[in-house]
Amino acid sequence: MTEYEPVIGLEMHAELMTESKMFSKAKVVDSVEAAPNTAVSPLCLGMPGTLPVINEKAVEYATRVALALNCEINHHNIFARKNYFYPDLPKGYQISQYEQPLGVNGWLDIELESGETKRIGIRRVHMEEDTGKLTHQDDGTSLVDYNRAGVPLLEIVTEPDIRSGEEARAYAMKVRQILRYLGVNSGDMEKGVLRVEPNISIRPVGSTEFGTRTELKNLNSFRVLADGTAYEIARQTAVLQSGGKVVQETRGWHDTRRETFSQRTKEEAEDYRYFPEPDLPPLHLDDAWIEAVRASLPELPDAKVARYMAEYELSEYDSRVLSEERAVGEWFETAVTAGGTPKSVANWMINELFRLINEAKLSIDAIQVTPAALVELIGLVDKQTINNNTAKDVLAEMFTIGTAPTEIVEARGLAQISDNAALQAIIDQILDDNAEQVARYLEGQEKLRGFFVGQVMRQTKGKANPGLVNQLLDSALDAKK
Ligand code: ADP
Ligand code: MG
Repeated sequence: MTEYEPVIGLEMHAELMTESKMFSKAKVVDSVEAAPNTAVSPLCLGMPGTLPVINEKAVEYATRVALALNCEINHHNIFARKNYFYPDLPKGYQISQYEQPLGVNGWLDIELESGETKRIGIRRVHMEEDTGKLTHQDDGTSLVDYNRAGVPLLEIVTEPDIRSGEEARAYAMKVRQILRYLGVNSGDMEKGVLRVEPNISIRPVGSTEFGTRTELKNLNSFRVLADGTAYEIARQTAVLQSGGKVVQETRGWHDTRRETFSQRTKEEAEDYRYFPEPDLPPLHLDDAWIEAVRASLPELPDAKVARYMAEYELSEYDSRVLSEERAVGEWFETAVTAGGTPKSVANWMINELFRLINEAKLSIDAIQVTPAALVELIGLVDKQTINNNTAKDVLAEMFTIGTAPTEIVEARGLAQISDNAALQAIIDQILDDNAEQVARYLEGQEKLRGFFVGQVMRQTKGKANPGLVNQLLDSALDAKK
């Protein structure tokens, strides 16, 4: 049987978080929170006599993204009209870029599950405007909200370099991470500010020509992107293996049936009758302006990972986790500046703090624990004032009430018992009270050692210095042999 290889290219649409829209002064508002049709100008509605004006901030944000994705920037940008009729597009055309997009020939490296890195080519990054939003109701009527009409939108298109649903997911997640780093998009897929559409085809292994592709629309999560792509690869394989032909079309994803279904046959570029937008002059970007934007870019995730590995000697895994979001990296570095050892700060953040943050569904900017307070807590463990387990409880309390660790330790009398004589007395008492277990231990049931440690911890409410307990217990048991 013929073996097939998938070929995938991704189109992503990202709204830009500017104050006003791409070509008018209407505000960009949260599409979920704002009341419908409250941020709409005559231009957004396509009223006759209105004229577009290019939003400079949107061009700057778009350029940031194109540069972060390693694109060459076109100095001479042309806007084009993409003509089609739909109720969410009252002008009857969308202003987009066609022949001279802002960015071309970029690339992005993604990390595969195997640990390898793969470079995905980026064909173009272009500016356009979003359409309004239609809500189809059960009674067959539809509602339209033009708040979104004219919101600055970026389209980011890859080369067909992706080979699996998992790669598609890794790429899309990395783009989202970068958009968030750049502060141009929140990444809230459930709000529709970031949307992903894979183009998928398969071809016989070894073939250099592309097969007929389908495009998946309206995927609302990265999981669905990976699953929908995998489903489509399997579906096309079955079609070809049974002697059929793949039809070029747009397909949707059925969330409960977990399968794709045909939506419409794909339109070709000529269907849109693109032509240069007559109401806008070409947009010329000079080198000085482009270089100023480049200089304003923050350190991006891959550079941060490399620096954390080199400067703080963290593992690649820890470095990636701490670079996941810009705010997390900043929190980590503030803790290190406050005197924390990088490795222990990383461990406490990744193992304990993130668990609390996830449980509370908070972002790191919104928590009461400060980097300095975590460093103080680690200091209490290092000085053996409290043991590791107590420290975890103290952190949980710091997290809920925001008090400094030293105060919590004092107020709750949590300081570790490192007093030899006091621990010795407790251990002797426990061994006396559990003569039967001691006898069994001496006959070889070594697991009972854990039982004795447990008894000591219970009596001391977890405050005993574990190192000391182990040492004293061993000598006490040895003495009974
Ligand atoms: P359109 O403008 O019609 O959507 P493009 O040619 O710009 O089409 O391609 C859109 C995306 O589809 C790109 O990411 C591209 O890499 C990808 N693509 C193009 N041809 C194929 C194919 N045969 N199989 C898979 N992906 C493809
Ligand atoms: Mg397309």
